[in-house]
Amino acid sequence: MKSDLVIVYHRQPYEEVEVDGKIELRPNKSPNGIVPTLKSFFGEVSHGSWIAWKLREYGEMADWEQVVTISDDFGDYSVSRLALTADQVNSFYAVTSKEALWPILHSFVDAYDYGPVDWPTFQEVNFLFAQAAAEQAADDAIIWIHDYNLWLVPVYLRQMKPNARISFFHHTPFPSPDVFNILPWRNEIMDSLLHCDQVGFHIPRYAVNFANAARTLFEVSVEEEIEVEDGMSPRGMALSEPTIITRLKYHDQHVNIDAFPVGTNVNYIEEVARSEATETKLAEIKEELAGKRLIVSVARTDYTKGTKEMLESFERLLERREDLHGEIRLMCVSVLANQNMAVYRRVQEEIEGLVGRINGRFGTFEWTPIMLFTGAVPLEDLIAYFRAADVCWLTPLRDGLNLVCKEYCAARIDEQGCLVISEFMGAAVQLPYAVMTNPYSERFMDAAIDQALDMKPEEQRARMQMMRRNVSHYDIVQWSQHTMQRFEELAESRAGRPVSHKKSAAAE
Ligand code: UDP
Repeated sequence: MKSDLVIVYHRQPYEEVEVDGKIELRPNKSPNGIVPTLKSFFGEVSHGSWIAWKLREYGEMADWEQVVTISDDFGDYSVSRLALTADQVNSFYAVTSKEALWPILHSFVDAYDYGPVDWPTFQEVNFLFAQAAAEQAADDAIIWIHDYNLWLVPVYLRQMKPNARISFFHHTPFPSPDVFNILPWRNEIMDSLLHCDQVGFHIPRYAVNFANAARTLFEVSVEEEIEVEDGMSPRGMALSEPTIITRLKYHDQHVNIDAFPVGTNVNYIEEVARSEATETKLAEIKEELAGKRLIVSVARTDYTKGTKEMLESFERLLERREDLHGEIRLMCVSVLANQNMAVYRRVQEEIEGLVGRINGRFGTFEWTPIMLFTGAVPLEDLIAYFRAADVCWLTPLRDGLNLVCKEYCAARIDEQGCLVISEFMGAAVQLPYAVMTNPYSERFMDAAIDQALDMKPEEQRARMQMMRRNVSHYDIVQWSQHTMQRFEELAESRAGRPVSHKKSAAAE
């Protein structure tokens, strides 16, 4: 059966678990996270498909069926598993995507490494994804592609499925043309993206950067530009953007540009935060803290996340304020998701070294200033730590959005706690009531943590109420509804009737 919605996302939408020598496909346990959110879209269509890759042995044919039908809480849908060798995965994902494209997307020009890239393999893998998607898609299907490692899928797909509605969502930032144009493949990538009916981002700044990069490279006309509504872009912040270009024309193609930040599953987080299990865990954490104050900081191990800058600021805090010795603990979660990539292992070693130095310098027999967790902590446990933490401290140098800050707010059903965030994360434009910091400045970093630690409960409550309002409004349900509405509009724009967003703007 052909699908009317095809989701192209490089990871499989379930966990493969070996039981008695047989592989079982199990749904991801937590209802939080992007995979369950995307799967929930299958409930809106008559048949859905998901395209992902699966590792095959070199020189062997894949010994599994490419397409399987999955029945779970989200209904019945197909999953097409593209057989890739370890070399293909390494080249397309670990090298090209992570060493060349990721640093550029995050404006880390110094980390960009062009040398080891094998572009023909990147093209080939993207072509295979496009082919697998085309096989599953009805002629007028919505084909929804996720993230930069699949940047070339749209141009291949457009040739295979001229009437499909192709939508692309970026989970990352999109840099300014000055930085994007460093990529030697910039024309090919941009041409591919301009074959989409819609290109989506988290926030207006990234959409504007994309439109500007397109205009530097090709003859595109701006068909619509609108003001960004309140609630998405307060002025005076690093990522503020007053207007957004919402439609470009490239040859015969109308390209809608959308900016709407992914939300978190607020209902689930609040339910867990209120549960008896969390109350019990919270009591245990408080007993362990014995009156000490707690700061939490949670991130994947990545040079973009600013964990090193946060730890250095914590060291300076202990240098300046002897009154905090023995009275405060920092829980630092830094999870190494890409074990086999040298660049991330180096970052992890640096973090481990810094934690060792700070604990060695200030710690006593009774007091260890920093608790470092390098393995993933289940969200349900994180929620208990969030409830216990006086401060949640997140300092990325650059981050597409950042969900942890939203989860912290959602977990604070008591309206207490102080959120300190970097201005350079996408979510900052939604959360102007957080204490803002600039991880490129020691002075700003130190002032922000001082401000957070000194904040009175009444001020914490006033700020937390405002932040919780935003996080609840822009939750995952709202993002899904917004996305579904945009998909419906795409049917009209493919029929040559572009929809204006002058009234609804980027924020609803
Ligand atoms: N997370 C988790 N356990 C951990 C660390 C992170 O469950 O030990 C989750 C976190 O709750 C959030 C996600 O991983 O939902 C990270 O998303 P975010 O947007 O903050 O960062 P990303 O890793 O996508 O850049």
